[in-house]
Amino acid sequence: MAKCLYCQEKAGWFQAVCGDCKAMLAKLQELGTGFSFRDLLDALMATSASNAKIEKFLDADLRGQGSIRDMITARMTNELAMRVGQPTDTDSLKVKQIREEEKKRPQIPLKPGQCDPLRR
Ligand SMILES: [Zn+2]
Repeated sequence: MAKCLYCQEKAGWFQAVCGDCKAMLAKLQELGTGFSFRDLLDALMATSASNAKIEKFLDADLRGQGSIRDMITARMTNELAMRVGQPTDTDSLKVKQIREEEKKRPQIPLKPGQCDPLRR
């Protein structure tokens, strides 16, 4: 039994992608290009996939070029930057690198209710 490329669950004989992920990919294609993250989540939640599976799908990084989530973050960053007149050319790989650097950043213990001084 092959494992699904996206969620790593059983995909079925000769199947690279399971039924749920196939349905989510179809939804992603239906959305075209101008969707928000909220639109995407609504579309994915309309499939029979569980929330845990949706998370795995968004975080799947098939070619090591960044996940679907990274791709969308990159696109939204570019759109926003364009709107404020400071065009950028962020892509999913750059978002992935930033995300991974962020994980390595030492965490400053915060008191409850205190804002992270590095995030403003
Ligand atoms: Zn799957």
